[in-house]
Amino acid sequence: MDKVYDSVIIGAGPAGITAAIYLKRANKEVLILERNAPGGQMNQTGTIENYPGVGTLDGPSLAMNMFQQILDLKIEYKYGDVNLISDEGEYKKVTTDKDSYLAKTVIVATGRVPKKLGLPNETTLSGRGVSWCAICDANLYKGKDVVVIGGGNSALEESLYLANIVESVTIVHRRDEFRGDAILVDKVLKNEKIKVMYNFEAKAFNEKDGKIDTVTLENNKTGEKIDVLTSCVFIFIGFEPSTGFLSNYSITDEIGYVKTDEDMKSEDDKIYAIGDIRQKNFFQIANAVGDGAVAAGAIIHALKE
Ligand code: NAP
Repeated sequence: MDKVYDSVIIGAGPAGITAAIYLKRANKEVLILERNAPGGQMNQTGTIENYPGVGTLDGPSLAMNMFQQILDLKIEYKYGDVNLISDEGEYKKVTTDKDSYLAKTVIVATGRVPKKLGLPNETTLSGRGVSWCAICDANLYKGKDVVVIGGGNSALEESLYLANIVESVTIVHRRDEFRGDAILVDKVLKNEKIKVMYNFEAKAFNEKDGKIDTVTLENNKTGEKIDVLTSCVFIFIGFEPSTGFLSNYSITDEIGYVKTDEDMKSEDDKIYAIGDIRQKNFFQIANAVGDGAVAAGAIIHALKE
């Protein structure tokens, strides 16, 4: 643990990868830690159509393209599930399940995890008919009928992806209007394999032989209850931030997002936050990449002083 990094980046999504590229190209000692595959949420995204320069590309391919730049630049990259950041004199100590690292600055780029509905058997049915990842599980349901819950961009995009593979998709949305972008709403409504049930909420997952069999839906306007037969329920109802390891510091809002200034610096001047973990209103690959570049620029400047 004697080595002191200029920056340890936690998370190798688009934000963390960008920060690493800029820091390395400025000759800074940089380490990226990641507990999953590099690429973050991109690995769970079917098609990306709004990131300039790549046209239409599947998420895992864009993730791999970005990660290739980390390899090409020989940026130090390690597996690590960070459980604590602490103060060690003038440095920060980043502790993972395996090791500890000292750094002059830490960049938190850990993104968010998918939200759960909170139904009693939701977690135990995971992998047996309840999923949060179309790209991972769609092929298991070829030729079958599936349900999607949610009404934002994720639910719409993933429904379009699923419709290419499964027999039918029923989107269950709790309001009578989608939250997602107009272009996606239009594509969904024109897709013959997708049906929409507005004003319905999932109330129970009913099992048969250890797998999901039906989902009980209730209309929140009329009280009507129906059981819909399904092979899988895909849940896309938003995300929550993963910042448990920041418990030593009061730098998050009440939900857990890190508050930053325009340099991506938190209220602790050695901790920066970028990408979806940062308190903001718009969660896109494009601005995650922007956050990464801004934080790296600010750190390069701060280390000079
Ligand atoms: P989101 O925009 O927060 O939408 C969540 C959806 O789930 C909303 O329709 C919400 O309903 C519904 N919902 C939330 N809690 C629920 C519950 N307990 N029961 C039933 N429904 C519930 O989340 P997201 O779609 O995952 O998107 C997250 C962010 O990533 C957004 O900023 C989005 O624009 C961005 N994103 C962008 C793209 C793209 O640009 N191509 C793709 C994916 C995601 P209400 O509408 O009634 O609140």
